[in-house]
Amino acid sequence: MPQGLIVKALSGYYYVLPEGSRLGSDSLVQCRARGVFKKRGISPLVGDRVKYETTDNGEGTVTEIDPRTSEMIRPPIANVDTAMLVFSVVEPDLNLQLLDKFLVHIENTGLHAAICLTKADLVDLADDSSEESAAESMEEGEAVQTTASSASAGLVATPMPDWLTDAVELYRKIGYPVMLTSSRQGEGVDQVAEYLDGKISVFAGQSGVGKSSMLNAIVAGLDLQTNEISHRLGRGKHTTRHVELISLAKGGYVADTPGFSQLDFVELEAEDLGSCFREFQSYAETCKFRGCLHLHEPGCKVRDAVEQGEIAVSRYEHYLQFLQEMKEKKRRY
Ligand code: GDP
Ligand code: ZN
Repeated sequence: MPQGLIVKALSGYYYVLPEGSRLGSDSLVQCRARGVFKKRGISPLVGDRVKYETTDNGEGTVTEIDPRTSEMIRPPIANVDTAMLVFSVVEPDLNLQLLDKFLVHIENTGLHAAICLTKADLVDLADDSSEESAAESMEEGEAVQTTASSASAGLVATPMPDWLTDAVELYRKIGYPVMLTSSRQGEGVDQVAEYLDGKISVFAGQSGVGKSSMLNAIVAGLDLQTNEISHRLGRGKHTTRHVELISLAKGGYVADTPGFSQLDFVELEAEDLGSCFREFQSYAETCKFRGCLHLHEPGCKVRDAVEQGEIAVSRYEHYLQFLQEMKEKKRRY
């Protein structure tokens, strides 16, 4: 029985890309789902790997859905490997609290996360003390901002403000890939494309951070509408469109929708929040009490690590804020 990947779902039809063929609309098989799925309350999703039968009229029927590795509700996509969290460094300003909230959500969903920082071309160096320190380190013969340099070869010569260097370093140290980019100048675009190769991924982030611009930059021939005003007025393609997977140069797929932009913690218990902060793990294991919420419990190793500078204060503060938000939400339900 032929197999394939559902790349688009629209009006009760599922569009299956037969295994081995490249994405081009004429290669898609338009399928209905077998009736039995409906009875079982299952519906095929974009991203599902399926078996299908073709009928005489060229249409097909999805007969089997392979077990999913993951399932996202918004946007509805199965088997997503990676969420590319897109945050602009300015316009809007880099919001680390929101970034941590996205990361919690991703960790909880069990996906991989990568961070794409956009609009690097707009960083205002004149507005920061880092110029001085950059000059100092140059005198000592050091390479300027090596962390920044490795983020994007094209930005090597640009000294970054300290707050940005610190943010990049913080998240890399935790273990997240961080890419510093400017789709306007083409910086770091290849790096993003390379990272996404071979994966099914989805872009996520606030409106206006440059998701559509980045998608346009990494997918040849794609022409998503950009700029936040049209999104807000509801004229942006994303607001009404179905989800569709588009193929990347070397075989990966990316959803052509700017992912989830709203998050809440309804499905997360307070005791599980800590496990969504990756760098807390090794410390949390040695907290005196099981189920330690890392608040004021005696023998809390997470708090110790914060005090000793091993866990970033910003991360711990966001943890406390989210915990509070979760409590308030619970009260309301
Ligand atoms: P989205 O809402 O996240 O999809 O963001 P868009 O891709 O629509 O971009 C929002 C605005 O930011 C648009 O006006 C873009 O031209 C602008 N923008 C996107 N990427 C960059 C960039 O790398 N540099 C600069 N300067 N502006 C950008
Ligand atoms: Zn603790």
